Amino acid sequence: MFCPIDCSKARFAIAAVREAAQLVRRVQSEMVGGFSNKGALSKDDKSPVTVADFAAQAIVGLRLSETFPAMGFVGEESADALRTTEGQATLDQITHFVQQMVPSATSENVCEWIDRGAGEPTDKFWTLDPVDGTKGFLRGDQFAVALGFIRNGEVRVGALGCPELVEASRPDRGGAGSLLVARRGNGTWLGSLLDSSTHNNDAAWRQLNVSDRATANDARLLCSVEKAHTDTGGIGLLVKSLGITADPVPMDSQAKYAVLAAGGGDVNLRLISPKMPDYRERIWDQAAGSIIVEEAGGRVSDLDGRPLDFSHGRTLATNRGVLATNGHLHDAFLAGLQQIDA
Ligand code: AMP
Ligand code: MG
Repeated sequence: MFCPIDCSKARFAIAAVREAAQLVRRVQSEMVGGFSNKGALSKDDKSPVTVADFAAQAIVGLRLSETFPAMGFVGEESADALRTTEGQATLDQITHFVQQMVPSATSENVCEWIDRGAGEPTDKFWTLDPVDGTKGFLRGDQFAVALGFIRNGEVRVGALGCPELVEASRPDRGGAGSLLVARRGNGTWLGSLLDSSTHNNDAAWRQLNVSDRATANDARLLCSVEKAHTDTGGIGLLVKSLGITADPVPMDSQAKYAVLAAGGGDVNLRLISPKMPDYRERIWDQAAGSIIVEEAGGRVSDLDGRPLDFSHGRTLATNRGVLATNGHLHDAFLAGLQQIDA
């Protein structure tokens, strides 16, 4: 038997996320100078994350063409800018990294594989965030490779690669990382991100469960590091109104969902930034993370309690923000959100 979730889509998601995460790490070690070099990237130099983002999407686009040639693919990136004269140097760097996985890859191949993900969502498709939490990657904090399979507007399979997280719950820079996979109705499982030889070994996989904390004032909140991605004032009001004693823990990317699924936190809040009241979540930012929390026993909805609806194109156009909890705390938090008019 393969990993405890034995289906072709879960197997694909595991392999694709592993390979993409390895590529991202190679970019990190070659372009940033190794894992121990925390903070080495200047805020202005976004080139490693750009190269990592495109290279990871290219490799997943290629693997999808090989495994599920007829299936739709929606990725965050498009190769348009790489095809211009100004994009040439970046494209050369991306090709250099993709060639470490596929030695025969040309720049033209790389653009084609990236653009496999430029399509619009259909009734059955994969969606990828090749490097979710780019700001975290640049800072040397959390980031994730996130891949989800969506059918009729519902996430069916999701995989998250979190290279800087150990046991899906604690930050561990340059460690073995965490790989999480979930399939609807089959639970959420934690395996090794780096070691694909463990794939056939059931003992190498551990089922994850959310916490059982049920009193709102004990809740451990997770939220964005980036103030522009949330409403810090609103979070403060909610903390006060529910009498929450612990400070919210800021963390980049869908690594927050991994921590929630593993019971290392109880609530992940995505309040809407007052500067961007019309912002709608991108599907690749929520697909993998939401099923990973749900299959670990948690609950995910928007701020009004509506289920996330992935049938409206590249955004969750009919949802406002996200509330993900261990389930026990969901209603209390929805009531709290109503009280502060979030
Ligand atoms: P996080 O690391 O939780 O802050 O989430 C990172 C994701 O937030 C990125 O992948 C962006 O796609 C997304 N994002 C960008 N702008 C906003 C915004 N105004 N509100 C919410 N999310 C955003
Ligand atoms: Mg993202």
